[in-house]
Amino acid sequence: MPSGKVHDRITLVGAVAAGAAWYFLAPPPKEPASCVALVGMTLFSGLMLSPDLDLHSSVYNRWGPLKFIWLPYQKLIPHRSPLSHSYLLGPLLRVVYFLFTGWLLLRLGTFIAAQFTNNINRGDITKQYTDGLLWLWNYHPIPVQYAAAGLILGTFLHVAADTIVTGVKRRF
Ligand SMILES: [Zn+2]
Repeated sequence: MPSGKVHDRITLVGAVAAGAAWYFLAPPPKEPASCVALVGMTLFSGLMLSPDLDLHSSVYNRWGPLKFIWLPYQKLIPHRSPLSHSYLLGPLLRVVYFLFTGWLLLRLGTFIAAQFTNNINRGDITKQYTDGLLWLWNYHPIPVQYAAAGLILGTFLHVAADTIVTGVKRRF
């Protein structure tokens, strides 16, 4: 399969192509937020939320001090299984895992902070997180749809490249 660097380059080209396609083909109203959501999410999906988070990869290391959040994911999901390397289920699972882990970290962070100060309302803070997500979903549905398309595209480019290279290698 292609190296991490090749995957990164494919992601960059794919994100630029998606932006150009949006510019020429997207139906009105053309909210710039939709283009940002599409291009940004394609990049995030390919560079940060890549299927190769299911092993110790360059993408995993890119998370720096936060990379530990992907350890349970690596333990649970066999490398290149359909749970990570598929066109819809893979990115959907990763985004749910990512949002849930964010929520857990917020709960943990506010729990620790609450040991030192009484001025923290843990319920309020986590409610802001879930309310923020719901607000995006309810009030900005079109950019959210473009973000979903970017999420899928980022994974699609990765899985397609893996499949093509593996197929070619098998042949020769
Ligand atoms: Zn892969």
